[in-house]
Amino acid sequence: MTREVTLALIDAATATVDAHAAELTKLDQAIGDGDHGSNMQRGFQAIARDREALAAMEPGEALMKAGMTLVTTVGGASGPLYGSLLMGMGKAAEAGKSWTEAFAEAVDSVKKRGKSDVGAKTMLDVLVPVLETLRAEGEGAFASIRSTADAAREATKPMLATRGRASFLGERSRDHYDPGATSSQLLVHAVCDVLEKRT
Ligand code: ADP
Ligand code: MG
Repeated sequence: MTREVTLALIDAATATVDAHAAELTKLDQAIGDGDHGSNMQRGFQAIARDREALAAMEPGEALMKAGMTLVTTVGGASGPLYGSLLMGMGKAAEAGKSWTEAFAEAVDSVKKRGKSDVGAKTMLDVLVPVLETLRAEGEGAFASIRSTADAAREATKPMLATRGRASFLGERSRDHYDPGATSSQLLVHAVCDVLEKRT
């Protein structure tokens, strides 16, 4: 990954989080505490402040550093969870794993950190299907990866939340999109859009 790709990924992620912060907050107001948009903005703005330093690092190291930034700057549950995702990916990348394997290990870190899995109406309901598509169709299958993320986010709407704050609502958590699944969908799009242009 070149310096330009790292910068483009950071800029695209930050831009999509900014553009959708109000929407993420609105979703979290419905089934959480209304801070998912501002949490994500705080985290990605902190990453964006480090963009030049991150772009000078090896990809694995940059991912570790960006993940630690999310853990330390985002107050909510999503900080440690997205932090685990990036750190898990960074660690695997440093160990020479493929991007698909690195993403698989990253998703496992999120499951461990959240004591969660698919079906609990969380970001994992987007991340796990995206991983399955990556495995089935390969790292260049950008259109499939994006449509998987879209369908997976859509599928969180009728789900009953059994993890995170939304689980406190019980049955009333149904008929709302999960905020974290939505931010994952947006980030998957941002990453695909950048990588597709570069390959
Ligand atoms: P908080 O819930 O602390 O206010 P955020 O609002 O930033 O944090 O993030 C909420 C999102 O985090 C949820 O929509 C969900 O996708 C995700 N989430 C919460 N708990 C878990 C968990 N245990 N495992 C996976 N994802 C989770
Ligand atoms: Mg919240």
